[in-house]
Formats: sequence, structure tokens, C-alpha cells
Amino acid sequence: MRILIVGGGVVGRTLALALAQRGTRVTLLDRQAALPAASWGNAGHIATEQVEPIASPATLRSVPRRLFWRGGPLSLPPAQAHVWLPFALRLALASRPARFRHGRAALAGLLAAALPAWQRLAQALGDPALVRADGHLVAWESAASAARGRAAWEAADTGTARVDAVDAATLARARALAPAIADAIRFIGSAQVSDLDRLAAALDAALAAAGVTRATGAATLARDGERMRVPGHDVDLIVVAAGIGSRALLAAAGERAPLIAERGYHIRAAAPDWPADLPPLVFEDRSIIATRYADRVQLAGFVEFARADAAPDPRKWQRLEAHAAALGLPLRPPFERWVGARPTLPDYLPAIGRSTRAANMFYAFGHQHLGLTLAPVTAELLADAITGAAPAIDLSPFDLRRFGTFA
Ligand SMILES: Cc1cc2nc3c(=O)[nH]c(=O)nc-3n(C[C@H](O)[C@H](O)[C@H](O)COP(=O)(O)OP(=O)(O)OC[C@H]3O[C@@H](n4cnc5c(N)ncnc54)[C@H](O)[C@@H]3O)c2cc1C
Repeated sequence: MRILIVGGGVVGRTLALALAQRGTRVTLLDRQAALPAASWGNAGHIATEQVEPIASPATLRSVPRRLFWRGGPLSLPPAQAHVWLPFALRLALASRPARFRHGRAALAGLLAAALPAWQRLAQALGDPALVRADGHLVAWESAASAARGRAAWEAADTGTARVDAVDAATLARARALAPAIADAIRFIGSAQVSDLDRLAAALDAALAAAGVTRATGAATLARDGERMRVPGHDVDLIVVAAGIGSRALLAAAGERAPLIAERGYHIRAAAPDWPADLPPLVFEDRSIIATRYADRVQLAGFVEFARADAAPDPRKWQRLEAHAAALGLPLRPPFERWVGARPTLPDYLPAIGRSTRAANMFYAFGHQHLGLTLAPVTAELLADAITGAAPAIDLSPFDLRRFGTFA
């Protein structure tokens, strides 16, 4: 079986490897934009605790206090209202209690399998230390916000992860980096990808060893009777795993995928004093996360609903730099700046499955804030479905038919 995967982010690459390991002939096609895709600029957090879909009544209630102009992370640019208003309406519908509960059950199943899938992948890549299963820290800067935040996490469904007290030595190390920390908790059962560049290189080496063909170019889809084809590629099956680019590709096949770009920003700098073994550190009052990669520390945050190709908003990088200064973090300028798009569907569940509009098409996209976390488990499940094995987890909640189709 010859399979073309469109999209070489973490979802596309892990899927290419899983399919090659199952004996198929895979070509991986990517358009390779100038800025690295979300997969190579994210916060590195294997977020097994994020079982509650963001499409929730609590999210809707929190919108006013989370707006960017009030110091929060949420940006709804007026000039992009035509992009985010229709999405906001769908999000409100998907936040109804019954759909929230359904989404939580579906996400919980995937997330429970996410870390074991990562550990299998790291083993297969010959680099088990790529995954550091050492939890993460959540810190607050006042006793009041710590009490509120801790109570909220203790009441939340955190799946296979659990909240624990942070030991005095770890708290002291975090405070040595950010003296403003009033209190913190530690999650057990979450993890970190040690370094995204190392991950990309390890995946590339494994893909080459497994005989996966790489191609560069922007795919388009064209209909050919019951099937779709990508001009220039003669294959049996097509898998769309193109992150935010999936929307346009799916539309050509008559599939409705109401994806939006939830753009996030990061800055990275050298920070030689940052302990190499400190897990990701969330500053919850500021909605940012600090992650130590090989020789850099990264601060990431913001949720900006906009076209993926809109010009970046430099105020977000400036705000990240201001957060670093206010916290007293030992980052040494110059700062590298990056913006990338989380591919998000209104119910905050990914789309994983088989097209009902094209006989030869599968898809895996829409992993929102959890694409790094869920890539290996998505790859295993979809590779099984494609090669005729029964996936270990029911994929029906992730079927695109939940959004209807274009006539
Ligand atoms: C600031 C930030 C922090 C994040 N932190 C985390 C985190 O800590 N943990 C976590 O689990 N997730 C996190 N995420 C989310 C995660 O990064 C994404 O969900 C994930 O990277 C999506 O992977 P993907 O492969 O689907 O898409 P992408 O990484 O966007 O890759 C898609 C690829 O498809 C290619 N493509 C698109 N269209 C076409 C086309 N027509 N033809 C050919 N190629 C095409 C693109 O060039 C790209 O390489 C974060 C995201 C952001 C922005």
C-alpha cells in the first residue's frame, strides 16, 4: 500500500513512522514554511492532566477577565472578527454540559494512553531520555491566587495525572529562578519532551531508516470520482495531517472542518543558571509556561484567534519579555521570537479518522493545545485503522462527521 501523508509536523512524522513500521510505503509531503510549525515551537509539555476540554462553561465565564488588553492571554483582534466570531458561536454550542462531558470522556481515553505511547516512541527512536516523565510545576505569585488555583486543580478531573505538594527543595529551586513565587504544586504523571530539535532530528533519522520518502511542496487536493488525489503523487491512500492547513485541504473533499488558528507566541534565550532537570514551570497568574530545552529556556503563552498567516503582534513578545523581567527570570537576551498556530476545532477534540467523502482519505489534525502530547497515540491508533487492525481506542468521537459535510 502506497500512502501519502500531507503535513510533516509532529502528527505527520509520528504517523509516517508508525505506518512504515506496519509495512506500508510512505511518502511524507510538507510545504516547509519559513517559521517552524507549531510542532517545533511549543512548550514541550506532555499534558496528560488536561482532560477537561477547553470547550466548557468555565472557559466561557473566564473570557472577560482573560482578555489581552486586561493583561490576560486571550486575544480576539477586532480586524479578525470574521474569523473568530463563527468559531466562538460553535465553541459556545460545544460547551453545553452534555457535550463537555462527552468530550471529557473521549479526551480522557486518549490522554491516558499518551505517555505510554511517548515512551514507546522514544524507545523506538533509540533515545528514551527524550521523554522526561517528571511531572510539571504550577506556581502562583500571591497566597490568594495560590489558594484559588490549588483548589481549582484539586477539584478538576486530571485523568491519570495527579496533584501533589511540591517538596521544599524543589520550591526553593523554583524561587531561586523567580523570587516572586508564593506557592506551587507539582503534578505527577505529566511529562516533558526534553528538546524539540532533538525530537525532530530523531524522527527524521528513524523515517530515513524506515524508508519513508520525503517530498517538499504545498499539496492541493483534487477530486477523481469517489477518490481524491494530490497532483504529482500516484498513491493508494492520502492522509491529511497538515495542522491548520488541513481546513483548506479537507474543504476540497467536501468535508467540513471548522478549524481555527489559536496562535501562541514564545521567546527563547540562553539561561545557564536554569537547572537542567527542573520540569516545566507554569506561572498560572500570567498564563505562561517556562520550559528548559537543551541550551535555551523558552517562555510561551497567548491564545490569539486569527488567520494563521496574519502578521504577528509584537506586543505579545514584548509582554513575554516583561513577564520575564517582572518575575526576575535569569534569561540572557537576545530573545528569539516565534509565533505558531494551534489547529483547533470548536469542541477541542482532534479529528482522527476516515473520510466519508473520499474513498481513499484519512485525517489526523485539530489537536489544539495537545498536539505534542497526543501525536504518538494518534499515530498508533490511526496507523492501526489504516492497516486494518482494530484501534485500541474507539475513534468515533473524533470523526469529522460531528461537524456535518458540505453538500
Ligand atoms: C505556543 C504553543 C505552545 C504549545 N504547547 C504545547 C504543549 O506544551 N504540549 C502539547 O501537547 N501541545 C502544545 N501545543 C500545541 C501543539 O504544538 C500542536 O497541537 C501540534 O504541534 C500540532 O501538530 P500538527 O503536526 O498537527 O501541526 P503542525 O505542527 O502545524 O504541522 C503541520 C505541518 O503541515 C504542513 N502543511 C500545512 N498545509 C500543507 C499543505 N497544503 N501541503 C503540504 N504541507 C502542509 C506545515 O508546513 C506543517 O509542517 C502548543 C502550541 C503553541 C502554539
